[in-house]
Amino acid sequence: MSLSEFELIRTYFYGATGERDDVVLGIGDDCALLRPRAGELVAAGMDTLVAGRHFREDVAPETLGHKALAVNLSDLAAVGAEPAWATLSLTLPRADTTWLAAFMQGFSALATAHGVQLVGGDTTRGPLSITVQVQGFVDESAALKRSAGHAGDRLLVSGTLGDAGLALQYAHAGKPVDAELRERLDRPTPRVTLGRLLAGQANAAIDISDGLLADLGHICAGSGTGAHIELDRLPLSAAVRDVAAAGDWSAPLGGGDDYELLFSVDPARLDEIVHLCRSAGERVAEIGELVQADGIKLIGPEECVVEGVPSGFDHFRD
Ligand code: ADP
Ligand code: MG
Repeated sequence: MSLSEFELIRTYFYGATGERDDVVLGIGDDCALLRPRAGELVAAGMDTLVAGRHFREDVAPETLGHKALAVNLSDLAAVGAEPAWATLSLTLPRADTTWLAAFMQGFSALATAHGVQLVGGDTTRGPLSITVQVQGFVDESAALKRSAGHAGDRLLVSGTLGDAGLALQYAHAGKPVDAELRERLDRPTPRVTLGRLLAGQANAAIDISDGLLADLGHICAGSGTGAHIELDRLPLSAAVRDVAAAGDWSAPLGGGDDYELLFSVDPARLDEIVHLCRSAGERVAEIGELVQADGIKLIGPEECVVEGVPSGFDHFRD
């Protein structure tokens, strides 16, 4: 079945998500008209997924729809914002209705779970590429930033580290990837609830999209600190623990795509904040601290110092 651009938009995007009171005009006009919340900041973020670069061509479209929104919600979580609106720019090789229906199912299920309304977008023809923009709300005084860490802060991380990176390593090596690891790569859980809890409580925060060391490097650069990481305190799944025990720490330290939150807290408030997170059912682990010295020091089975700020994935570096 071949649909016109307008029919595609009407069929797959109109009413794709629940409706919010603060959307005065949604999909269908030249712009959406949105009512920001008085007294709060609008947090805006955007992420693009390009076929062959950010996802394997064989990934199920439902999974892609989930991931395209999840990575954006993760950015909102990292600043402590409450998600509200999304726009979606889709470049498609052809009007494949089966693909679109499945993609929108994944997108809509996650949007609805977080009370996000799709309010507009753009649909064009070309090599498959997906761009999502999200907006949310956060109190000015509570917004979390990469630059707000202090020497002496304790460092914490949510969930487990390196699962997505290990799944990707296995996939590249042509090894079988078990379902749990693959799920962590394909269907990340944005830590929105945790981000909301941490707003106004934590100091610095970032979501881990490029690997622990690279994203910690951003906190250190922004905050003017170094950091110590205790390797044996890193929260690891059994699969990642086995690989690390054999001496390969590349997945938990350098693997991207985990979308966990890394954050720093005032040491005097550590117990209180950990309790706050855990009593809300959020898994967090203390993994080290921000320090006055430069660089990131890994304290572990074998002590080593990572010179300078380690870099993560960089699109423009070969
Ligand atoms: P215009 O030509 O004025 O930019 P379009 O014809 O591109 O408008 O889009 C018509 C309406 O459909 C607009 O409200 C636009 O935001 C919405 N829209 C188009 N593509 C998408 C999409 N991929 N997701 C959500 N809304 C979309
Ligand atoms: Mg127009």
